[in-house]
Amino acid sequence: MPDEKTSNTHTPAELLSIAVHQLRAPLTRNKWIIDTLLHDEEAPPSDSVKELLTSINEDNERAIVMVNDILKASREEAVTIEDPVIVNIVDIIEKAKHNAEYIASVRTISFTVDKKTDSPLLVLADPRKLMYVFENLFLNSIKYTPVGGSVSIRIDADDTKVHVAVSDNGMGIPDADKEFIFEKFYRASNARLMDTEGTGLGLFIVKQIVEKNKGDISFESTENKGTTFLVSFPLASRV
Ligand code: ADP
Repeated sequence: MPDEKTSNTHTPAELLSIAVHQLRAPLTRNKWIIDTLLHDEEAPPSDSVKELLTSINEDNERAIVMVNDILKASREEAVTIEDPVIVNIVDIIEKAKHNAEYIASVRTISFTVDKKTDSPLLVLADPRKLMYVFENLFLNSIKYTPVGGSVSIRIDADDTKVHVAVSDNGMGIPDADKEFIFEKFYRASNARLMDTEGTGLGLFIVKQIVEKNKGDISFESTENKGTTFLVSFPLASRV
């Protein structure tokens, strides 16, 4: 029961959500200002200013992504399944792969997909949320794999389920961190050292979405060798 004597009627989670929401406005405004300065035809920026603005823009974009992630988790908007429909999961995986390809190429990471079947694999799910799942898994694999490494996606099906494996030969997850990896805000010790900007929210949201769509998610990982995330969903009954 909330404390009736407190004048503040918000829970801590709500306060966080409000504060983060307020952070989004200046970030969006910065984005607009940077964009205007970068594309000012009457007073084009010099090369050095352009370089600076581009770098500020990248930081700003990262901050926007983080703020959005936090908002999604705190509002639980991310895990509300809207209008499940029958979709070919292969199409969704290919689109998500396409969206992550640029980052893989910048990091010279080979990024491949291996389909064990040519038939469409139909599942009953919310397509936007499925995109979120695969984009997150692909971007994590790319992020936690050193330059020049490899990420591969394997799509397979049995009579009742589709199985997707996302494997990388990156930093892996230390044994001591494994049991917490799907917890909200949790980041493994090696990931915190390497990349200070993650939120530890992506996998928390991914797991909720997978489970709300009646799927399963697990992983196998060896530190300094690599990680495989395994996701499966029931196939929609054949027509
Ligand atoms: P973030 O990437 O923002 O830290 P996530 O919730 O997506 O948050 O991931 C949680 C943690 O799981 C990461 O911080 C990292 O420790 C670990 N992790 C996720 N994917 C991988 C991967 N492919 N390889 C190694 N560690 C991973």
